[in-house]
Amino acid sequence: MYADIAVCLPLPRTFVYKLPEPVERGCRVVVPFRKREIEGFVVDVREDAPHIEIHSIKRVIDPSPLLQPDVLELCRWIAKYYVSPLGEVLKSALPPGILPKDVVPLPLGEGTAKRRVKALTRPSATFSQTERESLAVERPVLTSEQSRALDAICTASGFQTVLLHGVTGSGKTEIYIRAAEHFIAAGKCSLILVPEIGLTPQLTDRFSERFPGKTAILHSSLTKRQRIDEWRRIDAGEAPIVIGTRSAVFAPLKNIGLIVVDEEHETSYKQEEVPRYHARDTAVMRAKLNRATAVLGSATPSMESFHNAKSGKYAQVTLTKRVEDRSLPHVEIVNMREEYLDAGKQVVFSRRLLQVIAARLERGEQTMILLNRRGYAAFLLCRKCGFNFQCNSCSVTLTYHRTINKLLCHYCGLARRPPDRCPACESEYIHYVGEGTERLEDDLKKLYPDARIGRVDRDTMRHVRDFERVLGGFRQGDIDILVGTQMIAKGHDFPGVTLVGVVGADAPLALPDFRAAERAFQLLTQVSGRSGRGDQPGEVIVQSYFPDHYTFQLAVTQRFEDFYARESRYRKAMFYPPFTALAGVLVNDREATRAASLARDVGEFLDSVRSNATRILGPAPAPLERLKRLHRHQLLIKSASRAALHQMLERLQSYIEEKKIGATRVIIDVDPVSLL
Ligand code: ADP
Ligand code: ZN
Ligand code: ZN
Repeated sequence: MYADIAVCLPLPRTFVYKLPEPVERGCRVVVPFRKREIEGFVVDVREDAPHIEIHSIKRVIDPSPLLQPDVLELCRWIAKYYVSPLGEVLKSALPPGILPKDVVPLPLGEGTAKRRVKALTRPSATFSQTERESLAVERPVLTSEQSRALDAICTASGFQTVLLHGVTGSGKTEIYIRAAEHFIAAGKCSLILVPEIGLTPQLTDRFSERFPGKTAILHSSLTKRQRIDEWRRIDAGEAPIVIGTRSAVFAPLKNIGLIVVDEEHETSYKQEEVPRYHARDTAVMRAKLNRATAVLGSATPSMESFHNAKSGKYAQVTLTKRVEDRSLPHVEIVNMREEYLDAGKQVVFSRRLLQVIAARLERGEQTMILLNRRGYAAFLLCRKCGFNFQCNSCSVTLTYHRTINKLLCHYCGLARRPPDRCPACESEYIHYVGEGTERLEDDLKKLYPDARIGRVDRDTMRHVRDFERVLGGFRQGDIDILVGTQMIAKGHDFPGVTLVGVVGADAPLALPDFRAAERAFQLLTQVSGRSGRGDQPGEVIVQSYFPDHYTFQLAVTQRFEDFYARESRYRKAMFYPPFTALAGVLVNDREATRAASLARDVGEFLDSVRSNATRILGPAPAPLERLKRLHRHQLLIKSASRAALHQMLERLQSYIEEKKIGATRVIIDVDPVSLL
């Protein structure tokens, strides 16, 4: 017997080993490899002996596979589609550190014996009659739009993908719950993916409430042990509902009927390290492998998903109204150029915004203020010589954080004390430019000393507990004004909020990324969606220096279809997704000249294997030219044919291996979501 082994190393191909005993596909084994012993996965078993001398495996780790067949199949697809080493993909599909004994506990001692019985009886994914009846309580009556959407999701037999495009507050979560109930009744499991678990506690609460004891949660702030325990519960069939972030797409659910991807447009679904898979697209593939239904929900669908719906690849249902006849908020754009002229200086808050905040405080209603930059000041500038303070390792300016009195690099974490004098000209005229959330909180405290103010950003939110404390306090009405980064923009349902202020709405538009307008549109629509979700109608104030920009105009009036049409024209003309298949190739090196010459080599190689359907841009220095001491160059490959793009990337992968360039120096990113 022989086996094809995918070793857990950044190598694109598999290796053949001799099997002294039968081992199933999906099991982990230890093999000798280039004078070392490493872990690998059995991906195929066969009888025929190759003609060359081959080694035996050293030992078997898993007596039976922890990876189930559909997950193994899914990993193969990821490895191929995202041009990632199969061994590394398979490794990321299992919880770190999981061992066979975690899954079938040994009969030692009382506690473990109990666990073993539990695991062996393997309760089915369905509910008992009484449990099903208890589900019937406290369910709101669906709106007609919700019912239609639910029908579309539940009537299909076999694989289908449904894009659920529903305005904020239209009751999408309720539809996910009802759909999960439907599939449970049919004896099938549901997988619910969310962009970030800390940000959607109410979604997990609502599911746990409806399916008590049947819900498992998988996310990155669980401990290793907790993650393995949840995984085991799912594997044992104890939790037919799984809610989790990106990697939960590999959850060991058997008999999947439904996969929901909530806020499908979120970029956090893309893993930014190897394997660089997109959990949304991977979820659709997993649904396909299981002949299940995939539901992609969003108030602002990605251009990709909307295109797939338009072209008939996905079914589409639209929720145009908020539940209980609640109106969408009234949105107003304040022209900050006029504010500047009138005040004679740059101001953080417009007069209009201050006026409506004050009105909220008087009425006891809540306000959210969004600014997508943490810290106190964006950067420090010498007013005499123009020197600005950059990171030594990255080509970005350092951000000033006042609480800790440090200049921080938001990319590599470098921290230093702010100098009193300019290091270049010794002058004392150091100016703090631009504002962050810390500054906003400070200013608001001075403006409204009696108001209770909270802040949500990466500096204040270190753990899921922090989210629960601050967001829970906000929901209970213990906080009047909540300041935050994009962390507060999405998903939340705070009925007491009647005002949302967006400070620095222009920032996303300035990004050197073809998706800048899409991001700005999404951010604005999402953040507006936080206002007026309760009984009182909501209001949104957007501060901008370009109030006439079409992105703002269309976001303000919630004209998604118009935005899609306009943005489509641009993407088509410029050969960008969703009309072109795109891949990024990032070349990096500690030495500037070596980075540049390697990028040239890669560019020449790609050019030599390029098909007519394909264009190559670059190599050129990446927008973030230096990051964590590495010099970075970028190539973009656009292709009218995904197959042609694929072929090129596979050849590049072999080229990198043959030339022994090292997988970390050339990074291939298929369907990239960020081009920095
Ligand atoms: P979305 O996810 O589309 O933004 P949610 O699912 O969070 O919207 O729903 C918003 C609020 O409306 C929630 O508090 C939810 O419980 C409530 N809700 C949902 N469906 C209905 C309904 N049919 N009738 C009354 N309230 C509903
Ligand atoms: Zn100076
Ligand atoms: Zn840095």
